[in-house]
Amino acid sequence: MRKFPLNWNLENIYAGGSASPALLERIEETKLSLSELKEVVQKIDDQITASTLYEILQRLQKYGSYYADMYSFVECLIAQDVKDQQAKILLGQIHEIGAIFNAVNATLDSKLIDISSEVWTNLLKYPEMEKIAFVLSEKRAQAKEKLSPAQEELAGDLSVDGYHAWSGMYDTIVGRMQIPYEENGETTSLSVGQLSNKFATKDNGVRAKVAEIWESAWENEAELCATSLNHIAGYRLQLYKHRKWDHVLKEPLANNRMTADTLDAMWNSIVQEKHRLVPYMERKAKMLGIDKLGMLDIYAPLGSEGKSFTYDEACEFIINHFRKFNTDMADFAEMALSSGWIEAEDRNGKRPGGFMTEFPVASEGRIFMTFSGSSNCVSTLAHELGHAYHSYVMKDLPLFAQQYRMNVAETASTFAETIVIDAAIKAAKTKEEKITLLAEKIDQAVAFLMDIHARFLFENRFYEARKEGAVSTESLCELMIAAQKEAFADTLGSYHPHFWASKLHFYGTDVPFYNFPYTFGYLFSSGIYARAIEEGTGFGEKYVDLLRDTASMTVEDLAERHLQIDLTQPDFWKNAIDLVMTDVEEFLALTDEQ
Ligand SMILES: [Zn+2]
Repeated sequence: MRKFPLNWNLENIYAGGSASPALLERIEETKLSLSELKEVVQKIDDQITASTLYEILQRLQKYGSYYADMYSFVECLIAQDVKDQQAKILLGQIHEIGAIFNAVNATLDSKLIDISSEVWTNLLKYPEMEKIAFVLSEKRAQAKEKLSPAQEELAGDLSVDGYHAWSGMYDTIVGRMQIPYEENGETTSLSVGQLSNKFATKDNGVRAKVAEIWESAWENEAELCATSLNHIAGYRLQLYKHRKWDHVLKEPLANNRMTADTLDAMWNSIVQEKHRLVPYMERKAKMLGIDKLGMLDIYAPLGSEGKSFTYDEACEFIINHFRKFNTDMADFAEMALSSGWIEAEDRNGKRPGGFMTEFPVASEGRIFMTFSGSSNCVSTLAHELGHAYHSYVMKDLPLFAQQYRMNVAETASTFAETIVIDAAIKAAKTKEEKITLLAEKIDQAVAFLMDIHARFLFENRFYEARKEGAVSTESLCELMIAAQKEAFADTLGSYHPHFWASKLHFYGTDVPFYNFPYTFGYLFSSGIYARAIEEGTGFGEKYVDLLRDTASMTVEDLAERHLQIDLTQPDFWKNAIDLVMTDVEEFLALTDEQ
């Protein structure tokens, strides 16, 4: 008999799916309450008292929780059935609520600048406000660096059609792309996603053919993509200029609550140590039977499919191995896996990919994925459980103290995933299985230390060039090749010049520089993992304390307080990279005679 349910339960969140009366009621209620709050916030002046401000902040967090809850619910409905039209209509309504919520937040931030220090001190005397003191100060400090409220409002209104629209334009370009592909004598039209799946093969001939078609498909759309990219960057640079922000990294660094010194220390350590990945790449090329890896070969699978897991086996495996690090984390995983938090069934009509989403009102999380039994699926499940555990240990905190940023978001997930991957490598029954699993793990290091570095180098240089005017498609390709050459330590046999066109992350308007936070999260988690191995199960409590503080301080303070390390110095980063490199050594030893 099955022990762990394959489907999630959403009924205790809002009963009735996309026709849920409770959800409709909550939508109406939140819209109305937020509109009322908007008026209250607009009337804030220098006569405001600490108690009124306290009420406003409590209400804002309450409606913020409602918004997050409804958003998660509808996201789950669409993921479990991509044809749920009613859910898509609901999503539109919830986006509207999001827009009001953001507007209230922005107005409030601008009002915080003029709050007297006496009112501010009194405000922070409320225990609930003390817990979000960091976020409140951050809001106030960041509002001071922006334009006047009226100018910011105008910029926000213009951004809908002048900024976000270019991102939407890119989605339209990509969505329309139909690429002819010949297989077994038959030519079919593939979407971008379908064609990119064809890269996952050991067959060098097929990969080379796909790479050629892929490159030319993007070349065909390069002019339109370049137009979108130039306008997105142009808008951002204009806004920064008016705000008198002199550096393009100012916003992404502030978003991730980290300093430029930390970012430099991280990249410098990577630049110094990345040559240690080169022997792995050379060995991989040899094992694939090619001279040098091309940019589009780096994630080619090595070896055969390893052990296959039933869902129950996967759940047991994860719980058992979590327990060796942290009993609380294992108990949590067992509870989540047994209580309908996970949608894992392999069936048609589900969205691809995996995610974890939280319901702050019910203090629960839900995980979405399609479980097919591969070791990769087990890692994905562990990864998402790591995210869920992160939110779970913060569930009693006020909303603002739960909103951690992208760079630390991947810490708990990568940590959980590493525990399970390492356990699977140890448990491998054959040498081939071990080699395959190690290669999968080292490919992640290649992704975070080389591939993401290429994206960062490119984006930085592109923004510099864009300050002088629009950048041509030829120049974009040149910048991209130079970045790949440098980031991959000059080991690649061929490049992907139109990568800038094919990568969605360059076109996102919600998160600028959607790259370095990934690498930060990966290495930060690796450093924490090294500490956990050193300290054994006693580390569990310290780990929870660290996670609970992830939304309440800068990353430098977080590392200093909980790990006694200085992120602006190379030592921590080098140790984290050392740990990654032990896998490379093992891989090279295992594949020596091949
Ligand atoms: Zn993740």
